[in-house]
Amino acid sequence: MNLSNLPPSSRRPSGCVYLVGSGPGDPELLTLKAARLIGEADVIVYDHLVGAGILDLARADAEIIYVGKEASKHTLPQEEINVLLARLGHIAGRKIVRLKGGDPFIFGRGGEEIEALIEAGIPFEVVPGVTAAAGCAAYAGIPLTHRDHAQVCVFATGHLKDGSINLDWTALTRPRQTVVFYMGISGIHEICRQMIAHGLSSHTPAAVVQHGTTRRQRVLVADLASLPERVAESGITAPALIIVGSVVGLREKLAWYVAEEERAEQASPARPSVARPFAGKGFSQPWAQAAATAPQG
Ligand code: SAH
Repeated sequence: MNLSNLPPSSRRPSGCVYLVGSGPGDPELLTLKAARLIGEADVIVYDHLVGAGILDLARADAEIIYVGKEASKHTLPQEEINVLLARLGHIAGRKIVRLKGGDPFIFGRGGEEIEALIEAGIPFEVVPGVTAAAGCAAYAGIPLTHRDHAQVCVFATGHLKDGSINLDWTALTRPRQTVVFYMGISGIHEICRQMIAHGLSSHTPAAVVQHGTTRRQRVLVADLASLPERVAESGITAPALIIVGSVVGLREKLAWYVAEEERAEQASPARPSVARPFAGKGFSQPWAQAAATAPQG
């Protein structure tokens, strides 16, 4: 990264960069602080995971800059984002909101961006957001911990910088634990294979939640052995989370939110259903009833 051509802040007054988590998608999951800062910002620099409707809170005259960052097709390389933030911050009194999906410090490269701001002498603040695991689990009716099922919950990334998945599988397959994989869809075969190879039963409940908390939310429930195939059949792609552990089985009882996408699938038997995970196994489908009262997030 080349920040050397930026003037030191001691010689020049600067603005402030707010690293703001926008939550998993539903705009109502923004914190009050995030909503206020978005409404006050002179400049907003945002990623593709920022939910629809959230930018509507921006001032009409705010400068809005998209920097993308979909897996493997980064619109602007991270180093250029770092330099951009530092440059934007070098105007006195300017309020810059760096808006990121979920929480900036959970697989969000928030730490890297702050290091660059520190190097450039730009003041900053961090505003946490609802991370995808919390949002998706809540809207899928899957409690990440439960006294009868899991006393530990682990967040892991299924995507490493060089494209490999090099995780501590022994730690990830401990009993009475829930594991949530971010960015794991392209590696789902390997993830499920390793979890079974390291001792989890192939029948361990596992779910995928795509576009969690939004109108496009889709939830697929299967077990470790069949999940990769079911995901391939359903056409589910990123952004999606994989949740592994016996808590996933609680969805059958606790599901409360059915998004429009899932409702359409239930109405159309021609499409492979992802909303009826236990279809054919004699389980009831409480979410069909819940559909009438579900929020429109
Ligand atoms: N900082 C973010 C995570 C960024 S990594 C956070 O705290 O949530 C990007 C990954 O997050 C995606 O590939 C996906 O695995 C997950 N993700 C983010 N939003 C999601 C959503 N609405 N539904 C499902 N997964 C989501």
